[in-house]
Amino acid sequence: MQYISSLSGICASFPRRLALLGSTGTIGGSALSVVRESREYFHVYALAGAKNIQKLAQQANEFTPPYLAVLYEQDIPQLKSLLKPGYSPVILHGKQGYKEISSLPEVDTVLSAQVGASGLAATVSAVNAGKHVALANKESLVLAGAYIRSLAYAKNAAVIPVDSEHYALFQCLAPHTNTAQNVKNLILTASGGPFHGKSREFLHHVGIEDALKHPNWKMGAKITIDSATLMNKGLEVIEACHLYGISLEQVDVAVHPQSVVHSLAVWQDGSVTAQLAVPDMKLPICAAFSYPLMLTQKNNSMPSLDLTAQILSFEKPDRTNFPCLDLAYQAYRDNLCIELNAANEIAVERFLAKEIAFLQIPQLIEAMLNQAAKLDRLSLAAGTPDKVLQQIEERDIHIRTIAKTWQAPLT
Ligand code: MG
Repeated sequence: MQYISSLSGICASFPRRLALLGSTGTIGGSALSVVRESREYFHVYALAGAKNIQKLAQQANEFTPPYLAVLYEQDIPQLKSLLKPGYSPVILHGKQGYKEISSLPEVDTVLSAQVGASGLAATVSAVNAGKHVALANKESLVLAGAYIRSLAYAKNAAVIPVDSEHYALFQCLAPHTNTAQNVKNLILTASGGPFHGKSREFLHHVGIEDALKHPNWKMGAKITIDSATLMNKGLEVIEACHLYGISLEQVDVAVHPQSVVHSLAVWQDGSVTAQLAVPDMKLPICAAFSYPLMLTQKNNSMPSLDLTAQILSFEKPDRTNFPCLDLAYQAYRDNLCIELNAANEIAVERFLAKEIAFLQIPQLIEAMLNQAAKLDRLSLAAGTPDKVLQQIEERDIHIRTIAKTWQAPLT
């Protein structure tokens, strides 16, 4: 079993030279912890951050990569002023800068950890350059999974997800070469987020602070809200179909509030393989950076998993109060994933801006999917990366524009 890769083109030598896109975010921070603990295996060659210039400068001063990138050109003077004496890296900027960073000839491994659809261009650029792509930006596969898959094979690139559930499935399936014939279905676990078990009446009144309190994982705001609505799991279901080449009907979700079992494979004979680990993103990051070899995370401070310390429970997701999960299934079936993602990103943005209520997030997304069903479906099967990205961007902007002014009473 392998991820999206032919294996033949994969860099198998160490140290890996890394470009970390989104280095100032939560995943970026964990990635740098992995590097800190395994400096003989991983070298930072480029860092890119969007907003937190102070943090980017701090990271740059520690790892002194020869390349940096920021999103906005006006941030370059501030960044330069914060760099230590004698260190003067090349500083790129904007979308073009991110694309350059992700395709630098000296870099073999790219971490794509930007938030949302904005991460797609750099992901595609890295795949097109034949890189080993550690993909934390799951939206890239949601938006253009089939295209990225075919591009990766054509360019001898590898796409390895940085996601605890998909890392778990990789470990469950790895020893088997005939997975497709023998797997009955895959079960992605979901913590259920902060509102697991809550009634609709309760959900009517939840605020931003409540939704941002994830019980098990420390993550950025967008993915934390996605976890609270179960949209994150919906996006992971779509990701699973692209990663493993299996049908939507073969992917199930189970709520597992302890976040110890990260996913399961159910075999045709009824047996089940599960992967268990402490919830820490350094594990999937280290595995993605070292794939197809498997380096073990060396952090001695990592707590051991104590199975006697807690009861592990599993239940069906509440699809009535958390309809985002089914909206993701529907979007994949109807070939409306670009539209689903655009609607979700605006819904989350508007919830965080206090423009809509928590329960209006699925309401907005459903309204956008209904609108989008009347449009022609995009066909991304062929075309240069620039052409495909342009097609996706046009549809993405179209849905965002409608979603930004959507209004309806809370139902
Ligand atoms: Mg996940």
